[in-house]
Amino acid sequence: MDNEEFRRYGHQVVDWMADYLKDIRQYPVLPHAKPGELMDRLPAHAPDRGEPMDAILEDFEGSIVPALTHWNHPRFFAYFAISGSYPGILAEMLAGALNVNGMLWKSCPALTELEQVTLGWLREWIGLPEEFFGIIYDTASISTLHAIAAAREMADPDARTRGNAAGLVMYTSEQAHSSVEKAGITLGIGQDNIRKIPVDGAFRMRADVLGETVARDRRDGKRPFCIVPTVGTTSTTSIDPVNAIADVAEDCGAWLHVDAAYGGAAAVVPEMQSILDGCRRAHSLVVNPHKWLFTPVDCSAFYTRKPEILRQAFALVPEYLRTADDPRAVNYMDYGVQLGRRFRALKLWFVMRHFGREGIAELIRRHIAYAQRLAGLIRDHPDFEIAAPTPFSLICFRYRGSDDENRALLDAVNGSGKAFLSHTVLDGKFVLRLAIGNIATEWEDLEETWNLVRRGARNTALSRSSAE
Ligand code: PLP
Repeated sequence: MDNEEFRRYGHQVVDWMADYLKDIRQYPVLPHAKPGELMDRLPAHAPDRGEPMDAILEDFEGSIVPALTHWNHPRFFAYFAISGSYPGILAEMLAGALNVNGMLWKSCPALTELEQVTLGWLREWIGLPEEFFGIIYDTASISTLHAIAAAREMADPDARTRGNAAGLVMYTSEQAHSSVEKAGITLGIGQDNIRKIPVDGAFRMRADVLGETVARDRRDGKRPFCIVPTVGTTSTTSIDPVNAIADVAEDCGAWLHVDAAYGGAAAVVPEMQSILDGCRRAHSLVVNPHKWLFTPVDCSAFYTRKPEILRQAFALVPEYLRTADDPRAVNYMDYGVQLGRRFRALKLWFVMRHFGREGIAELIRRHIAYAQRLAGLIRDHPDFEIAAPTPFSLICFRYRGSDDENRALLDAVNGSGKAFLSHTVLDGKFVLRLAIGNIATEWEDLEETWNLVRRGARNTALSRSSAE
């Protein structure tokens, strides 16, 4: 492909993207795809000779797009609904063209310094103090892995050379994301040494039980080294009492890492900033701009008050990467597992500048208001019940019937292609989750989905009565 062809296809691809996003409601949210179908359709072997771009684009539309789950769809309400945004997409295109690698300051000063600047801005927006150092990783799972590695470094600096000491124990809640436990497994802490603290009636970690568990472990000669509360848990978006948990962490000298991967974004809204109460006492915190800050996947912002410990855990500089020391030149490769790193700060910078704090706060406020309004309708309906508080924009609810009926209801809604919801289990019961987070979602999308759910429930009730 020469430069002129690149220009021509570039325009064609941008036109396709603009049409796709304009017409997104015409696509089924979930594809009518069967496992293995796309693989069977595509050639088993790569071509020996290059193919024309027209053929590649044709197959993209004809084979790839029909097998997509459309995360951009305004009625995508599963997991945590997310979306990119026009400025974020433009920045991703530029990052692809620039193709820089920010392993060292010297390998790309713009990447390194823009990451420092944007994370400084975001830190201010969510109300964290200036002492928090920021770094972008790909996902919250990796951010939390780095937090727990730093926690181990603080508790047991010799772990780097001789491996983990015996007796290290970490704590999280039984509602925490699985990435916390996975990080503990990866770092050799062992599942037997990961305590999952029970939650209260609103699915928040019980700080009193945490305190008792830590005390018992210490009496047994264990070494509590890390505590991970969550602001916005995955199943229900409950908010753990970070201040009370910080008291326990400070008392036993453990690293406190806050998983605010989803919920942290809401602190951009001035009247919501109290959701991060106590977080300035944390050693580290993660918030994902790719979840609720309209930044394309992937972008996870990790903050720590102890960058020197993170660096101690990860710095290992071979001769070929040695550079002159300058206190203003951050080499991000010293603060994590990976060496190469892409220019993720560019999209965050575009998004923050395009919307401004007020623009982002307005979008988040709108999502929360929709969720409160829909939760009210569900609460008032005799056939449905709300299964958990709604502090953000996720509604957990269920049809007042059996788990099987709720499963059938979910399958009916998702099978329609008109909306996509997910599920969880709370207090032993199957619960539907409807998460609002897409930039294009309107109230009409929620009304239509609520109609779909009620219609599905009526059919469920009909098939129950005909079976009786
Ligand atoms: N933490 C919480 C609270 C989450 O809800 C999720 C994902 O939904 C994660 C961590 C993991 O996020 P990621 O996919 O960025 O690793």
